[in-house]
Amino acid sequence: MPGFTPGRRYQPPFMPFKRVPFKQRVLAKIELAVKGPLFGCRMCGNCLLQETAFICPMECPKGLRNGPCGGSTPEKCYVDESRPCIWYKIYDRSFKLGREALLLEVLPPMDWNKAGMDAWSDVFIQAKNVGVKNIISGLTSGEAGSVTKTLDSVFRPVRQPDWWQGDALYHAPKYTEPASELERRLKAGEFVVAAEISPPMSANTEKLKQNIEMLKPYTAALNFTDSPSATPRMSSWACSKIAVDLGADPIMQIAARDRTRIGLQGEVMGAEALGIHNILCLTGDSMALAPSPRGRMDIVDLDGIQMLWILRRMRDEGKYLDGREIKTLPKYFLGAAASPFASNMKFQALREQKKVNAGAQFFQTNVVFDADALDEWLNEIAKRDILDKVYIMIGISPLKSYRAAMYMNDKIPGVFVPETVLKRMENAKAKGNEQEEGVQITLELIEKIKTKQGVSGIHIMAVGWEDIVPRIVREGLGVNPVK
Ligand code: SF4
Repeated sequence: MPGFTPGRRYQPPFMPFKRVPFKQRVLAKIELAVKGPLFGCRMCGNCLLQETAFICPMECPKGLRNGPCGGSTPEKCYVDESRPCIWYKIYDRSFKLGREALLLEVLPPMDWNKAGMDAWSDVFIQAKNVGVKNIISGLTSGEAGSVTKTLDSVFRPVRQPDWWQGDALYHAPKYTEPASELERRLKAGEFVVAAEISPPMSANTEKLKQNIEMLKPYTAALNFTDSPSATPRMSSWACSKIAVDLGADPIMQIAARDRTRIGLQGEVMGAEALGIHNILCLTGDSMALAPSPRGRMDIVDLDGIQMLWILRRMRDEGKYLDGREIKTLPKYFLGAAASPFASNMKFQALREQKKVNAGAQFFQTNVVFDADALDEWLNEIAKRDILDKVYIMIGISPLKSYRAAMYMNDKIPGVFVPETVLKRMENAKAKGNEQEEGVQITLELIEKIKTKQGVSGIHIMAVGWEDIVPRIVREGLGVNPVK
């Protein structure tokens, strides 16, 4: 096991895609010989160790470079349960060493042109640009912050290439008129409802249209999932376009899992042309959850945070990732997932702050069953000074049965169903009124959630039980359908 990378499972280093000059091959071999045993280096070509408490993030089976996904827990990675989530190890060490602020910097996706190549020559070139004399005086001056500044002058330009320029700052949206009806209502201070509709498994859109028509009067926006559990269904953009045609405001979910950086930018530009403006950026459920035969389970081209960073710059700076200009700026209201109970709430809050800095304007949380436990997460978010920068919609899922409650608690990462709720559903099962009990639990939850400071709405995930949503909205929020 490498000296500085806890809990690592061996993964082979990347190989260059082309033949490289002899000198570079030798340098790459030396770098691997040094960093392999120490850090489990995989030769990604753009080293991030400085920012990640000297634990190589490429240990993550998804290759995430900006933090954990919503599915893993401190105990185990959900893609490969034989190892711990390396990102929790990075968070843990960063907090212990007081380096957690470094985790806020939005780090770039891999430059595959550099995969398998050494990262050192870029560092040498940059050190030469800064000047050996300046480096030595910066490292030895004894002035506060001088060492960090000097190291940053060498390493930052290397890890943040011109085409990325990630930072750890908040970037307020550069537009004023709401991009969508959802944004308009949130800005107006309305407590909003979004509801999720499962896309159909076939091209028959009859039920989809019925659901849209049924839920439209009760909601501010409708979510369309993007092949959840890595299982294909009708695409989110097609469902969103149908919703637009029916006069509803869609939230197009988009999973990085299935996109390359090219595909993502092309797809969101198409969404803009179709009148789809709310976009929920997700890393996406791993291919490990998919039915067989499975596709690749390793490296995803982008993570959810990188998607936010790219989309925000397309909208506010009018440029594609490669720097080409976008003459007519797209209007996007950008969202991200939040997972209050996935782990230590300090870790979660830092992760949410990074998403807000990258471009998230609204959060839709994982399913919540314990409104009281939410307070700690909201407090941590407040400490990070992002409550006034992001709208939060709490995820709610009406329980249809005791079995569904057990499944959610045991199988859905980041979801925690309290013992009292499980007991109530078990008793209801014995009395034969599970669905009614599930509705009552949901209504009680909404009653508590709607009073919480910093919460702007709810996001109902009825998972195939869409018919119940109108009743929940009517009884939970006293909302009558908008004619
Ligand atoms: S971040 Fe990249 S270069 Fe750095 S140790 Fe990990 S794989 Fe190697």
